[in-house]
Amino acid sequence: SLTLGIVGLPNVGKSTLFNALTSNDALAANYPFATIEPNVGVVPLPDQRLDKLAELFDSAKTIPATVSFVDIAGLVKGASEGQGLGNKFLANIREADAICQVIRVFDDPDVVHVDGQVDPTSDIDTINTELILADMQTLEKALPRMEKEARTNKDKRPALEVAKQANAVLEEGRTLFAAGMSDAEELRELNLLTTKPFLYVFNADEGILADEAKQKELRELVAPADAVFLDAKVEEELKGLDEDEQRELLESIGQTEPGLDAMAHAGFHTLGLQTYLTAGPKEARAWTIRKGWTAPQAAGVIHTDFERGFIKAEIVSYDDLVTAGSMSEAKSAGKVRMEGKDYVMQDGDVVEFRFNV
Ligand code: GDP
Repeated sequence: SLTLGIVGLPNVGKSTLFNALTSNDALAANYPFATIEPNVGVVPLPDQRLDKLAELFDSAKTIPATVSFVDIAGLVKGASEGQGLGNKFLANIREADAICQVIRVFDDPDVVHVDGQVDPTSDIDTINTELILADMQTLEKALPRMEKEARTNKDKRPALEVAKQANAVLEEGRTLFAAGMSDAEELRELNLLTTKPFLYVFNADEGILADEAKQKELRELVAPADAVFLDAKVEEELKGLDEDEQRELLESIGQTEPGLDAMAHAGFHTLGLQTYLTAGPKEARAWTIRKGWTAPQAAGVIHTDFERGFIKAEIVSYDDLVTAGSMSEAKSAGKVRMEGKDYVMQDGDVVEFRFNV
């Protein structure tokens, strides 16, 4: 499954946040056979639609989609110079599908900042610089080979041109993501770090959580990446509380939902994922697919046999189903469609697959 790699300077609250992300009891109950690695935090994607479906279908339980965050320790200045931890750090990032940077914006004289002061812009620059330098090294090695190939094979020229453009962007000190080059097919095989989508988690204090103007400013700083604001210490405390206590603690800092919920949604969005829904007496469940996937590809997420033997999909949009009030009424209202193998899944499709075994 796709993952977001959590990075950040020392002392910004990564471990605290990661602690809050892991040891999720609800999740262990739903996925008893999933091996969850110690450096992976799996967060459920809150989805109120599942509760409604469970009501309509009298489902015994609900199973939300999840988002996986991997703890990537050890960014140090100079990582791109390839020393010890640096190499390992970059290799771990290369394996992640998106980069989630935790940035300290909380004030606390007792917690030392590595650069002496809280300065989000400088923290972002520090991380970006290491990733940009690493990508420039990759290109420095690849470009001569690509030039040689392009000389004898004109089909290789477009790839060379895009790689040169990428190099120019990096030389300006910009990430390829910020330059809108994340989806460039020509760059795929180079697996450059800065093409990965970015997500920023601002580890904030109460003051900033209540300060819309400050948040707007920080959002603008990181656009087009998504930004999430939370207090890692509060998130860690929430873990040990029951629902009422959680609500009380959140209210006391002016929040309506846990920051981890917002982080799950933003992570899901950053990875370019979406869900479709199934419901029956056993469970109401959200399944994770990529945007743009067809019905057979989506069926394959449930079981590979479903993809191979795909015949058609019976689909009703969640909103239509809820408006109709039941599956049979949705059918009489003509809202339930039979879709074939070319159908592109839409977010909120409630689906039953028909297949041959
Ligand atoms: P890491 O080095 O990025 O993993 O940072 P840690 O999670 O170890 O946090 C460093 C220190 O900052 C610890 O003493 C944490 O208790 C503290 N800390 C983490 N998050 C917050 C926060 O939101 N507010 C405050 N005041 N302290 C925090």
